Amino acid sequence: MPLLVQNEITNRTVFSKSIQGSMQTFVWEAKDDPRGGDLIRVPDFFKDDVDFLNALDQGTLTLVESDDPDIKARIEAQANVIAQRRAAAEQRLAATIESRQGRDILGAQCLGPAISGRGQCEQIVLQPASAKEDEPPLCERHKVLHNEFALMETGSKGDPSNPLRKQWVRAEMTPRVRQSV
Ligand SMILES: [Zn+2]
Repeated sequence: MPLLVQNEITNRTVFSKSIQGSMQTFVWEAKDDPRGGDLIRVPDFFKDDVDFLNALDQGTLTLVESDDPDIKARIEAQANVIAQRRAAAEQRLAATIESRQGRDILGAQCLGPAISGRGQCEQIVLQPASAKEDEPPLCERHKVLHNEFALMETGSKGDPSNPLRKQWVRAEMTPRVRQSV
């Protein structure tokens, strides 16, 4: 009593399983494969295989048919519960991100030069968190410099003391320009 299983994604899906000591590989062609290779039969005992059930949960594969209506009902019910849970979690996440973007205000030190000529301007600039990658933090006095700043990726992935992040960096100026500033 094999299970008839459909590939739901536009890539080939491969599922390998050690069955009685020998590795067997099941290959689904991309969904809507003209020769129907996206729909194949797998052994009935897959209904109890955790890896296979996970593939169903993720929606990569769906069970189209089983000779045993109980199995079909059970797998479908489980897939529904998980799909609902995932949708609810995604909604919650989207709502959190939206409200954060609308609400949070960040304070950052102005990136302009200090009035004394040494170091950095001490003005704190308030920006909506959602805009922090749109405009460099610059006070009223230094706003005119905004075209000189670019958002650069700095740091490195594996280094906790210097993690990967985006940073506003003032463009290098030629020595001649620097003198005239
Ligand atoms: Zn400033």
